[in-house]
Amino acid sequence: MTSRDPIYITTTIPYVNARPHIGHALELVQADVLARHYRRRGHPVRYQTGTDDNSLKNVLAAHAQGIGVRELVARNAAAFSDLAAHLSLSVDDEISTSSDVRHKPGVHRLWRACDESGDIYRKHYAGLYCVGCEQFYHSDELIAGRCAEHGTQPELISEENWFFRLSAYADQLRSAILTGKLRIEPAGRRNEVLSFIEGGLTDFSISRSATRARGWGVPVPDDPSQVIYVWFDALGNYISALGYGSDEAELSRWWTNASRQIHLLGKDVLRFHAVYWPAILLSAGLPLPSDILVHDHLTADGAKISKSAGNTVDPVALTATYGTDALRWWLLRDVPRVGDTDFTLVRLIARSNDELANGIGNLVNRVVALIGKYRDGVADRQEYAQQYDTPRRQADQWRALSAARAKATGLIDAALAGGDFRKATAAVWAIVDHANRYVSHSRPWDLAKAELAGDRDAGRQFDAALGALIATCREVAGHLEPFLPDASARIAAQCASERLPAPVPLFPRLCLLDG
Ligand SMILES: [Zn+2]
Repeated sequence: MTSRDPIYITTTIPYVNARPHIGHALELVQADVLARHYRRRGHPVRYQTGTDDNSLKNVLAAHAQGIGVRELVARNAAAFSDLAAHLSLSVDDEISTSSDVRHKPGVHRLWRACDESGDIYRKHYAGLYCVGCEQFYHSDELIAGRCAEHGTQPELISEENWFFRLSAYADQLRSAILTGKLRIEPAGRRNEVLSFIEGGLTDFSISRSATRARGWGVPVPDDPSQVIYVWFDALGNYISALGYGSDEAELSRWWTNASRQIHLLGKDVLRFHAVYWPAILLSAGLPLPSDILVHDHLTADGAKISKSAGNTVDPVALTATYGTDALRWWLLRDVPRVGDTDFTLVRLIARSNDELANGIGNLVNRVVALIGKYRDGVADRQEYAQQYDTPRRQADQWRALSAARAKATGLIDAALAGGDFRKATAAVWAIVDHANRYVSHSRPWDLAKAELAGDRDAGRQFDAALGALIATCREVAGHLEPFLPDASARIAAQCASERLPAPVPLFPRLCLLDG
C-alpha cells in the first residue's frame, strides 16, 4: 500500500426506528478516526455512513406512533445526520436507503448479478421470524421459544420466498479469510466466523412477501409480490452509494481498485458482514472488502443499551453538556479492543479531567506560559533546534519522553490497522504523561530564575528543555488530530506560531451535572 492508494471506510447503517444512542456514536467516531488518520498519512479517503430505512421495524414503529413510515424515517434519519456536527465527524457521504436515488438501481443490479450466477431460486419456506432481528431462527437457536436478543416469541411464517445459494460459497469464504484476503479483526471474531462456516452454510431467504412488509422496501425485480430482504438491501448500500447500478465512476475508484475497503461493525451483525455479504459479492463477481473491524458493545450504567429498554444515552445531550472532546476521548480511551464496556458519566468525567484538563491541557498551558514569561512568547524553532542535546537535569525522564515521541507514529499506525483505538491513544498519552513528569521534576522555572541571577548555562538548559517541550506540544497536536480534531486545532493555535499567544485553558474541568 502506498500513500496515494484510496481507502474506503464505512460504518453500518442503523435502523432508524428510534433516535441515535451512544452505541452509534462509538462506531461513527471509530470510523472518523480511521478516516482522519489515513488522510493524514496522505491517502485519499472516502468515509461513508447512512441509514437503513427499509426495515419492517420502521413500519411497526411508525404504526405505533400513528405516523407514516416516510415521516418516521425522515425524522430519525435527520437525527442521525445531525450527529456529524455534534461529534465532529468528517463524513464524506451519507446514503438513505429509502430515498437516495443511487440505492434501488444498485440493489437491483446486485440481485440480477447473483441471479445470473444461478444463485437465486424460489422455494416454499416456513420458519420462525423475529422482526426485531429481521431474521429467521431455527427452534434450537431460541431460548424457551424466545429470541435471545429481544425476549419475544418469533412469528411462525410460511410463504414462498426467493433464496440465495449461500451453501455454494463455504470454500471460497474460508479461503479468503485464511489467506488474509478478507481480514477480520480481532482474531476472536475471525475464529467465530471460521467456525460458523465449518458448521455448514445453509441457503437463506432474500425476499419477503410484499403484503407482510406492508409494501415498504425494495421490490424484487420482475416479482412485485415480493420485497427484497432488508439485509440484502442494506448490505448493498456499501456499493450502491459508489454508483453500482447507476453511475459507476466511483465504484472502480473506491471498491474495485481501492487498496482497502474497511467495514466497521458491531459483533451482533458480524455474520451478515463476514459471511452473507462476501458471498453475495462473490456471486455478483465483485471484489471482497479488505477489512472487517468488529467492536463489542456498550452498556449504560450496567444495562444493555436498547431503544426498547429506554435507557439510551443520547450522544447529542452528552456533547452539549460535557463537550465533543470529552465524549470522543471516553469512547476512544475507555473502550477496550475486546469486551463490552459500561458507560457512566462518572467515567466520562474522570477521563476528561485526568487526561484532557490535567494532562494535555496542563502540559500545553505550562509550556506556553513558561515561554511567555521568560522568553516573551518567542518560540524560535531554529534556535531551539540547535539545543536538543540531553540536558543534565532529569536525563532519565528526558530519555523516556524522547523515546515516547520517537515511537508514537509507529505505535499509532499499528494499533489503528487492527482497530485498537485504546492502544493508539495510549501512544499519544504516553508522550503527554512523560512530558508532564519531565516538567514537574526538572523545574525549568528554577533554571529561568538562575539565569536571571546571572547563570548563563542555566539559560541555555532552559532553552533546550522548552525547545523540546514546545516541539512536543506541536507533535501532540498533530497526533491528536484524528482522535480529537477540535482540541488538536486549539492546541495548534496555542503553540504553532513563532510568537506564542497568551496561554488559555484548553479543556474545562467537568463536574457531574443533573439533567
Ligand atoms: Zn430478535
